[in-house]
Amino acid sequence: MKETMAGMTDSPRSQIRFPGAELEIDLDAIERNYQRFVRTLGAAECGATVKADAYGLGVAHVAPVLWDAGCRTFFVATPAEGIELRDILPEATIYIFNGAPRDWEYHFIESRLIPVLNSLSDISAWATFARAMGATPAPAALHFDSGMNRLGLSAAEVETLVAEPHRAPFDIPCVMSHLACADKPDEDMTARQRDRFAAAAEAFIEARCDAGLGDDRPRLSLANSAGILIDESYHFDLARPGIGLYGGNPFTDRPSPVDNVIRLRGRILQIREVSPPDTVGYGATHEVTGPGRIATVDVGYGDGYLRCFGEGNGWAVINGHRVPVAGRVSMDSHALDITALPLDDCGVGTMVDLLGGPVPLDDVVKTTGLSGYELLTLLGHRYNRVYKKT
Ligand SMILES: *Cc1c(COP(=O)(O)O)cnc(C)c1O
Repeated sequence: MKETMAGMTDSPRSQIRFPGAELEIDLDAIERNYQRFVRTLGAAECGATVKADAYGLGVAHVAPVLWDAGCRTFFVATPAEGIELRDILPEATIYIFNGAPRDWEYHFIESRLIPVLNSLSDISAWATFARAMGATPAPAALHFDSGMNRLGLSAAEVETLVAEPHRAPFDIPCVMSHLACADKPDEDMTARQRDRFAAAAEAFIEARCDAGLGDDRPRLSLANSAGILIDESYHFDLARPGIGLYGGNPFTDRPSPVDNVIRLRGRILQIREVSPPDTVGYGATHEVTGPGRIATVDVGYGDGYLRCFGEGNGWAVINGHRVPVAGRVSMDSHALDITALPLDDCGVGTMVDLLGGPVPLDDVVKTTGLSGYELLTLLGHRYNRVYKKT
């Protein structure tokens, strides 16, 4: 019957892009956000944290844009992320926050990944490995904990290392620490961490020098996105911004200083007329109070649009009108109450804004209780992804 069918191409069937929810990722905005950090940092180097698939936005698309913008140092969490990134950026310096699992060290050399060592026992294992490597360099970074108590050498371990710097006889290109409260710059904790880190790192460098271990002064790194923007005293030699590159607000107590990057739009699958005593969705939690219309949109918790976007919290924008979510969010869809919308404004196939664009991330953070980090890293893989670049 049908002579032509939309989407017919020679490309593999798995690459057919059916009409559906669309996630637009503005690579130009990522570059602008990177350049903003570069300008703020002045003489200090601006690296980039691209862990968790570049915060859900797609490391294969994001990393080359950052490289072209001049970024040379990248941070990921796991070795597998590092190996993936090595294929994308053959020349980059790549640090692995979670360190090197015992007996897997050789993969780091092979892919030129630099582990961040987080304890004296990590250091001792890496030293053994580095000795076995002989003349082949086996560089590793060190993380000194300064109050976060997540990863890194404790203060007591740093003291031991300062007393016995020979425990780390390998190249150390970087010594880092991580801020726990930089999103609220007025808290005293942040300055305390900076001062602790500076003192510990300087003591270590001096001990290393005195022991004749390094002309190679490790570069010091403390700042995440928020840390960069607090003030110069947090910059040290190398910064590791993540969230701000991707349009998430690094601060929780002030407006966002960065450009928005994402725009998530769902597609209306069906519109239905409802009237009392109808209910909408699982649990029948939405009780219809008068004649109205419900639009079912093709985005649900399986796409990162979690149940905390349900009635009372979530909303969408359709042609400039704000409409509320009705009832619970399902796995593949949610319902919008479009009773107040002019009929002409939407139908099956209309795209509705759910996140980013006219639905600012910061507003969604307030209503759902999720952080910007969660909103981005939850973004699903069923969306048609559109990367915008001029
Ligand atoms: C995730 C992470 C960063 C990036 O932090 P943002 O707040 O996203 O800028 C930097 N350093 C470490 C150790 C991290 O885990």
